[in-house]
Amino acid sequence: MSSPYLSAGLARRTESLTSSAIRDLLALTARDDVISLAGGLPATDLIPVNRIAAAAESVLRSPDAVQYCATPGHRTLRSAIAARETLARGGMPVSADTVVATHGSQQALTLLAQALIDPGAVVVVDEPAYTGALQVFSIAEAQVESIPITDTGMDTEELERRLKAGLRPAVVHTVANFHNPRGVTMSDQRRRHLAVLADRYGFWVIEDDPYGEIFFGTTESGIDAPPLPIACHSDRVIRLSSASKILAPTLRVGWFVAPPGVCGAVELLKQGADLCGSSMTQLMAAEMLADTSWLAAHLAVLRREYSSRATALTSALAAEFGSRLTVSRPAGGMFAWAAFEDGTDTGELLPVALDHGVAFVPGAAFASAAQYRHSLRLSFAGSTPAVLADAVRRLGTAHAALTRVR
Ligand code: PMP
Repeated sequence: MSSPYLSAGLARRTESLTSSAIRDLLALTARDDVISLAGGLPATDLIPVNRIAAAAESVLRSPDAVQYCATPGHRTLRSAIAARETLARGGMPVSADTVVATHGSQQALTLLAQALIDPGAVVVVDEPAYTGALQVFSIAEAQVESIPITDTGMDTEELERRLKAGLRPAVVHTVANFHNPRGVTMSDQRRRHLAVLADRYGFWVIEDDPYGEIFFGTTESGIDAPPLPIACHSDRVIRLSSASKILAPTLRVGWFVAPPGVCGAVELLKQGADLCGSSMTQLMAAEMLADTSWLAAHLAVLRREYSSRATALTSALAAEFGSRLTVSRPAGGMFAWAAFEDGTDTGELLPVALDHGVAFVPGAAFASAAQYRHSLRLSFAGSTPAVLADAVRRLGTAHAALTRVR
């Protein structure tokens, strides 16, 4: 029987397209009566709208802001990012020529997949994985293999065993800081190990880091920033980041830092994709990223608020479910990862939870090999502590209702 896609006049590539479970869920949870802990949205109430308005006003005085810009991004933004990256790498200099600005870091993933992955090539992802990366690698027709995440990030010993057994990835994708969805951060030792493996076996590492600035620790006094980026340890690492979680997703400003050959290939692909990004939002992001004292104060507010929201969520879950639910202790980022110990299937719990006015993402959405039937991801970022407490009460009622019918 011929494929419905081909009979609809669509290309073969569209046959393997699947919708992101999370984006589908976002449509369901847009109801006013649902408290959504599902999306990976930063807190709307903490988006610095006044500073964004001031940046818009100021950049619009320059004719540059309303014109096309160079394909790899406006020079002012690339320089501001290079300065921040140099700091993030402990002073290791990063040149603006090695920075490419993209339409969110999701576009960086898409273009990098086109530049680095032939159909059928092997790509290694975290298990569980960022769903947006799974979608990109599926569109690129990659053969996706997964390596489990541990409390100290991707299990690089397991990766090394697989490499020794013959696995030959073109790319290894990992979210090393405050993993989406697991919340964990890769240790310095694993970062160095992954870099050594990349050099030895000749694969690219995509170090996807939208959350690294949102660190707050698990104690009152907080902790320092995560270990130095993997990119400090090998030239085969391409580092992605974004203004979405620290400024605003609407800017659609993301970027990556890579060796010149990769930047050049992506530039050509980006010419075909969109000619260039928005000069206006790139200049706005550049102004805010370069306003270091304002940004430091803004990040301090984000860290403090996210810390108190994370504590509110995890302590409410502990009070509601006790030992029936194991909950991660977030030290940064936006997510807690939890697993039911009483056999609850989170795919079955979700519709009941929606009926009770609360949403989360079932673990299965992040699976490529494992199942995660009893796991769930909860975002603490978007709700105040009082709303989070209400959300957990609703989840408790939904769980009790599901357990009664079982
Ligand atoms: N990478 C990871 C790990 C993410 O969680 C996200 C957004 N949820 C992105 C990339 C893409 O974000 P953006 O395109 O807004 O920069």
